[in-house]
Amino acid sequence: MENIKHNLSVIQQKIVACCEKNNRPVESVKLLLATKTVTPENISIAIQAGFPLIAENKVQELKDKFEALKPFQPLNHFIGHLQTNKIKDVLKCNVSCIESVDRLDLAEKLQQRLVFEDKHMDIFVQVNTSDEESKFGVHPNQAIELIKAISELDRLHIKGLMTIGLFSNDEVKVRACYRLLKSLFEEVKSLSIPRVEMNELSMGMSNDFEIAIEEGATIVRVGTAVFGQRIYPDSYYWNENKTE
Ligand SMILES: *Cc1c(COP(=O)(O)O)cnc(C)c1O
Repeated sequence: MENIKHNLSVIQQKIVACCEKNNRPVESVKLLLATKTVTPENISIAIQAGFPLIAENKVQELKDKFEALKPFQPLNHFIGHLQTNKIKDVLKCNVSCIESVDRLDLAEKLQQRLVFEDKHMDIFVQVNTSDEESKFGVHPNQAIELIKAISELDRLHIKGLMTIGLFSNDEVKVRACYRLLKSLFEEVKSLSIPRVEMNELSMGMSNDFEIAIEEGATIVRVGTAVFGQRIYPDSYYWNENKTE
């Protein structure tokens, strides 16, 4: 049995220490809880401990847990590969930000549905900074073009960038992914594209969130370090077939 509250306070202390070391205000980094495979009961413990920002990877899991978590008023982000036929379901579950928009086709279908429902949606553009076939995200060279195209869609509000980065013990390589995302972030900012805001940089997970904070992360997405090991390998979430 994991001690969720204890784990949260350990991570929070590390975030605080890392911010201080890097001359960043503590409030400039938000802890997002990656809740895949975690039960609503355990998620609610974390929310009640003061961490309302949560995110699922799979639409089915989002749907399954949505009702049970409603009383705890979570702030839902979505961080998984989104198939266009699941857009409706995501919109039903009070998701306030989709962090994983990585292609124009998805953005256009989102726009269509948002018009139909008369809603708006904050999004991050997900960038593949590690150049691995297995991960989703737009190629860094195509990110600006995609952002410009999405900026034309008036129901979508680009607020930042997200990346999964490299799984490696090689700190230099991991850091390079986060630096790349940060430099794209600055480049997009400098272009002042109408209606595009660069406020959030979502990067860093259980094993490397301190590196990500050093490189400018404003949101770190942590699962295992809070809730314990998952029964499924991460490949279950990240290597799924790209075809829809
Ligand atoms: C699971 C997941 C995380 C968190 O991973 P941990 O290693 O468990 O901290 C972060 N981002 C995404 C997109 C995830 O799916």
